[in-house]
Amino acid sequence: MPKIVAILVLILVASGCHRDSSSRFRALSDEFVYTTLSFSPVGATGAGLHRFANQNLDEQLDDSSAAGLDRQRRFYEGFRQRLDGLAPDALTAQDRADLEIIRDQIALALLDLDEIHSARHNPTRYVETLGNALFNPYILEYAPKAARLGHIMARLEKTPAFLGQAAKNLVSSPDIWTTVAEEENEGNIALVDQTIRAKVPGDQRAAYDRVARPALDAMRQFQDYLKNDLAHRNQADWRLGRDRYRLKFRYTLETDAEPDRTLAEAEQRMAEVRTHMFELALPLHRALFRGHQDHAELKGGDREGRVIGEVLDKIAERHSTPESYMEDARKDLEEARAFVQQKHLLTLPSRSNLTVIPTPEFMRGIYSVGGFSPAPALEPQLGAFYWVTPIPKDWPKDRAQSKLREYNFYKLKLLTIHEAIPGHYVQAELANDVEPESRRVLRSVFGNGPYVEGWAQYATEVMLDEGFLDRSPELALSFAKEELRTLANAILDIRLQTLNMTDREAIELMEKQTFQEKEEAVGKLERAKLSSCQLPMYFLGWRGWRRVRDAYQQAQGRSYRLTEFNDRALEQGAVPLPVLGKLLP
Ligand SMILES: [Zn+2]
Repeated sequence: MPKIVAILVLILVASGCHRDSSSRFRALSDEFVYTTLSFSPVGATGAGLHRFANQNLDEQLDDSSAAGLDRQRRFYEGFRQRLDGLAPDALTAQDRADLEIIRDQIALALLDLDEIHSARHNPTRYVETLGNALFNPYILEYAPKAARLGHIMARLEKTPAFLGQAAKNLVSSPDIWTTVAEEENEGNIALVDQTIRAKVPGDQRAAYDRVARPALDAMRQFQDYLKNDLAHRNQADWRLGRDRYRLKFRYTLETDAEPDRTLAEAEQRMAEVRTHMFELALPLHRALFRGHQDHAELKGGDREGRVIGEVLDKIAERHSTPESYMEDARKDLEEARAFVQQKHLLTLPSRSNLTVIPTPEFMRGIYSVGGFSPAPALEPQLGAFYWVTPIPKDWPKDRAQSKLREYNFYKLKLLTIHEAIPGHYVQAELANDVEPESRRVLRSVFGNGPYVEGWAQYATEVMLDEGFLDRSPELALSFAKEELRTLANAILDIRLQTLNMTDREAIELMEKQTFQEKEEAVGKLERAKLSSCQLPMYFLGWRGWRRVRDAYQQAQGRSYRLTEFNDRALEQGAVPLPVLGKLLP
């Protein structure tokens, strides 16, 4: 009896201690989330935070001045010290997950501020920030239209100073970053001069013109600066190099994998997937090309490559036209939604706030194919957008053709599943139900990339496993090609950033080893130079999700249900994958 009392007392003390540390941690976490959001008023509008410290964030632009950047550095350093005072063992598993995310974010922010210095070398950062600053109040209906136009005009007024600061900060930039910044800046000019202007009501025209004119002048002047000034200071390298890459890899991906091992594993897996594709392709090849006799005259990799390549070429012939592309994506979305419902793969989100729109022009540098933009974490009732990048009317015919062949009938379905349902849209919507609010913001604004990208890949795999599109072998082969692409993504990122891989080697890997069309390969190479530690998310995340699910399935035994796993894992929001397993029952 006394023993039981003693244990009870211990439990009470322990839970009291939990509560205490937990509430202290929650206060810290709140402070971190809202303060860091306020460092980027543009990001804050996107997340649904409109006011902070008596300021209207929707009217501000990000402060990139030396003083502003220094204020951020001091905040992160001070905050790291305050976290050191916490005892993680006294926290709940959920709080520990958040603590890990915060620590990694601090490390990542300081790595950029102290070593990578993107403010000094990356012009796209300013151009994209400005584009988002103007586009978000235009597209997100968080306030009446007139108020949002007021926010756009307030930001336009600050645009000359913002771009002036950018020009002052930029020391040097690799050619590719400058070129893409020019393209995206053209997109911003069109956004202000045409897209937004067209929607300004008559009684606000004059006021809009008054602020738009100097803003447009500043944007054109910045264009001139990029072309004729920064372009000559091109000695900066887009490659991170081994040391900085290893650190960024750790804080961004939050897995236990190291770059070297990841590279070796991806390269090994590539051979396995090609063998699997050969098995899928052989019967299709036999039916399509009777006279080829299975290419028995070739051996090993050559034979594999020939058989798979010919079948993929044939599959690619079934595709949209530039005119039907967008509408086909919309139809595919409804087809995917119906299938998820019919098979009850997971509980679909309760809000219906998804729209398919063309990718905003100023984002087409990175999102050359498509993308997903979630509803703000603090205002989940607002719109979420599946971006499909249209095929420009002025593209030469063979370029358009190359893209349509890559995003053919099957691949466009896979894209829609990945970006929208049951991929990114479903994940983001369920993450937008996370409570409390600051946890929801933390896990979406600083959400774990491998969780997010891995979910989209894993969810597609689940669709195929459950028989989507009547178990079409063409779709299965297309999806295997997509797995090859996720492997190539990881290999490219690690080899380009740390091992001096050349453009030619990169293109060859994509075209020869992973069967990508030229247009796709060229676009991917550009993206690989614009980002780092982003491309390995697909491979690492997908594998991470499979591991978490397998462990869960084993633990549940006979009571395992796929729907239940998917629902529970999505309910957590985008936590690092090694943490996800610990949060599931
Ligand atoms: Zn994705």
